Amino acid sequence: MTANNTCYTVGIVGVGKIARDQHLPAIANNPGFQLIAAASRHAQVEHVRNYPDLDALLAAEPELDAVSLCAPPQVRYAQARAALLAGKHVMLEKPPGAGVSEVEALRGLARKLGRTLFATWHSRHASAVDPAREWLAHRSVRAVHVRWKEDVRRWHPGQQWIWEPGGLGVFDPGINALSIVTEILPNEVLLRSATLHVPSDCATPIAAELDCIDASGAPVHAAFDWRHGPVEQWEIDVDTDDGLLSISEGGKRMTIAGAPVALGAEREYPALYERFHALITEQTYDVDVRPLRLVADAFLLGRHVKTDAFGH
Ligand code: NAP
Repeated sequence: MTANNTCYTVGIVGVGKIARDQHLPAIANNPGFQLIAAASRHAQVEHVRNYPDLDALLAAEPELDAVSLCAPPQVRYAQARAALLAGKHVMLEKPPGAGVSEVEALRGLARKLGRTLFATWHSRHASAVDPAREWLAHRSVRAVHVRWKEDVRRWHPGQQWIWEPGGLGVFDPGINALSIVTEILPNEVLLRSATLHVPSDCATPIAAELDCIDASGAPVHAAFDWRHGPVEQWEIDVDTDDGLLSISEGGKRMTIAGAPVALGAEREYPALYERFHALITEQTYDVDVRPLRLVADAFLLGRHVKTDAFGH
């Protein structure tokens, strides 16, 4: 149970893969929220009032406390702005926007209106993240290696938006790794150079290599690849003066100097809704653009290399 007993009414917007896989069960199991409405052009949620789009939902549900936005990032800004202006607290799926400037504009709007805006990074709630951050807090980092590789045809079947501007391409999963890296390292991370491999029939990369440094100069290298398979590789190695900290399976496993560390059960989305509840109760917001800023820097500084057509 959350610290405050208030139950907030919530509507879900964009009922697709992540809404069904994670948001609906997480809301159903959180007594601090009651799902009363959904907005989606093609999908419906059982036992709640359904609307074809967010504008219709906002017009019909003036008493609603909050909305959770689960559509692709290209429509995030317009939806979040409309919801904030209608007086709702707003939770954003990752990435919080298609660009950095729009997220910062939303943060300013939320602050002005006194509404909660929560830019979620679900991977930051993976079991390894808190213990990794605590262990690294007093260590000297020598180098970081990120490998975030999976088969796009398995994880994003039929999704066209990932290949359109603002869809991020391989950074859609890669930004999860960056959200962990920016959370666990004791120093800020700066991008120095990047290579983006862009299929000839796509606007966004299918693979990318990022060369960063942390503020003390330690190299931070990331390799993202969507042409990988069949076994996913979601790994982060942090080499320190006290040995190697290795995160694998996207944050479900961790070893330090080769020894496994006991971790809690996976509960990324339940933790997100607990945090959203606390932010609303405390009348504050949580918007960290650093993972998105690194992706934006990769597009700014990156060398674009054309690769074979993806063949949609
Ligand atoms: P999705 O299934 O392709 O899209 C979600 C829903 O958004 C769609 O079913 C669609 O519902 C609606 N939508 C799509 N395009 C729209 C548009 N132009 N305008 C308004 N609504 C639109 O995508 P997803 O995999 O759930 O991902 C959605 C977000 O969650 C992304 O930002 C993604 O990075 C994030 N996420 C996904 C996963 C995952 O495993 N898939 C994991 C974590 C986070 P209607 O057609 O019914 O409107």
